[in-house]
Amino acid sequence: MESTADKIDPKLLLKLRESLLSWFHKNKRDLPFRANKNAYRIWVSEIMLQQTRVAAMLPIYETFLKRFPEPKALQEASEDEVMKYWKGLGYYSRARNLKKGASLLVEKHSGLFPENYEEALAIPGVGNYTASAVLSIAYGKHYAVLDGNVKRVLSRLFLIESDPALNSTNQLLGNLAQEFLSPISPGDHNEAMMELGALVCVPIPNCSSCPLSIHCKARAAGKEKEIPTSKIVDNWMDLDLNFLFLKSSKGLLLVKYPGRRFFKTIYSLPFRLEGKHPYEKDVWVEELFEGPGLERNSLKTKHSITNHKIQLKFSDINDTNAAKIETILKKKPDLEFKWIDEPELREEFPSSISGKLIKLKSKMNQQPDLPVGKL
Ligand code: SF4
Repeated sequence: MESTADKIDPKLLLKLRESLLSWFHKNKRDLPFRANKNAYRIWVSEIMLQQTRVAAMLPIYETFLKRFPEPKALQEASEDEVMKYWKGLGYYSRARNLKKGASLLVEKHSGLFPENYEEALAIPGVGNYTASAVLSIAYGKHYAVLDGNVKRVLSRLFLIESDPALNSTNQLLGNLAQEFLSPISPGDHNEAMMELGALVCVPIPNCSSCPLSIHCKARAAGKEKEIPTSKIVDNWMDLDLNFLFLKSSKGLLLVKYPGRRFFKTIYSLPFRLEGKHPYEKDVWVEELFEGPGLERNSLKTKHSITNHKIQLKFSDINDTNAAKIETILKKKPDLEFKWIDEPELREEFPSSISGKLIKLKSKMNQQPDLPVGKL
C-alpha cells in the first residue's frame, strides 16, 4: 500500500502541526512526569503507563521516584523492595526489567539513559514505542511514537480504513506518524498526539473540541466512530485461583518460583488453578489441597490478570508441621520460600490480590458460626 503521507500537502502538514501544538500547550494535563525532561523519570513513567491508567499510576510513580530517584538507587535496591514499590501496578516483569535496565544505565552509560536509538532498544523492556517516547521528549530526537492512541488519531485524521492489526497498516501508520512529526518540537508533538488520543479523539470522539477537526478526513466522511476498524477477538478466559493460607508455628508460608502461571517473580501465597484451564498443575500444591487439614470456604471475589477473569478464593491449613513442608519445598530447585507473620501479608505479597484476600478473610471471620446441626 502506498504511504498516504506521500500525498499530504506540506502546507496542510504545517497547519496541522501548529494546531496540534497550540492545542496541547493550552490543554495538556499537569502531570508530574512532564515537570522536567529527565530521561530516567520519563522512562519510568512510560514503563508504568504501558498497562496502567494515568490516575492509577500517579501515586505509585511519585512514591517510586522518591525511593529510587536515579538509576543507581534502583540498581542497588533488592528485587523484593522494588516489587513492593511497584505494588498496585501489576505486570511485575516491567519492574524487573526496569531494575535490570537501571543496572545497564549505571554500568554502561554513566547512569544516564542513552541518546542513541539502538542503545535505548538494548535496555530490557524498551521497545520502539518507549525508545521513541524517551528520546524525543527528553532529548528532542526525531522519532515518532505509535501507541494505540496515536494510531486512532492518525487513522481518523487521514482516513486509514485498513485493519489496524495488519502489519501493513502498522507500517503505513508508522510512516505517517514520522512524516507528521514536527521537526522543531518532536517531544511536544508526540505528547500532543498521545494527549489528543487520550482526551479528545477517544473511541467515541469529541470532534467539536478537536483542533484538527476541519482537516479530519474521517469526520468529513462521517466515519469518525467507525475508524479504526477493530477485529479484536474477545479472548478472555475464566479462571478460579484458590490461595492457600498455610500456617505453622513459624508463620504463614509464602513461595516464589518461576515455573508457575502467575507471580513468577514475587513471593505470594501458594495457589491452585481451578476450573477448566489449559495450564499445568503444580503437583505439590495439588497434594496440599487434597491432603489432611484443609478448610475450604465459599467466599469469592473478582480480579483480572492479563486476559483472565479471575474468581479469587482461599483455603486454610492451620497448625501444619513446618519441618515437613520445608522438606518438600527444599527439593524444588527454583523455589524460594519464607514464613511471615500474617499481618505482614500485604507488604510481603505485593499485589492488590493480597488486599482482596485479606478483606475476604475478615469477612469470613465476621460471619456468625452456624448452630451445630443446621449445616
Ligand atoms: S475530528 Fe474527531 S475523529 Fe477527527 S481527529 Fe479530531 S476527534 Fe478524532
